[in-house]
Amino acid sequence: MSWFFIILTGFYVEASDRQLVTLPSSVVSQGQCKQVSKYNHYPYEEVSTSFLKPVGNGQMLHQDAAKAFLDMRQAAQIDGINLTPLSGFRSRNQQKYLFYEVAKQRGQTLEQRAKVSAPPGYSQHHTGLAIDVNSLDPSFASTKAFTWLQNNAKNFNFSLSFKENNSQDVSFEPWHWAWHGSEDARLALHDDGCI
Ligand SMILES: [Zn+2]
Repeated sequence: MSWFFIILTGFYVEASDRQLVTLPSSVVSQGQCKQVSKYNHYPYEEVSTSFLKPVGNGQMLHQDAAKAFLDMRQAAQIDGINLTPLSGFRSRNQQKYLFYEVAKQRGQTLEQRAKVSAPPGYSQHHTGLAIDVNSLDPSFASTKAFTWLQNNAKNFNFSLSFKENNSQDVSFEPWHWAWHGSEDARLALHDDGCI
């Protein structure tokens, strides 16, 4: 599979009433397909809220992913593992806060922020197919729950989106799992490399 950058450019996004920031974006071509990334994150469509179903702890997922997650949670429970949903579906507005406002609060540059969070419009959480579980700390990787997920999540069509040393150069996120169990889900998550 050969990937190459065609163009590297920048455009302006209004981060707040007072501040304009430049966000680098790049267009990557793979055969017939093109991917436009921002800080190495790819764009994702926001699912209609009419498709969302609760998965516990106040979190929602796309109904198909929700069913798979609840099945997986039950299987984990039988093995003595608790899977607690921390964050499922997120809107662009919620992501806007998490990206720009949290960056401001923490004194992070947008490049630094993008290592741990996607810009609005560029989060898998918009699709309702991705969920963060148990702990947003890298030490989650050394828990029994993570080992259980590594061994069993594939049986429920969940996979880890940001592995260690991933090509997107996004921090390792052992808590972030996305459901790839239908044709629609695979299209929404760009499994075919196309946007
Ligand atoms: Zn996540």
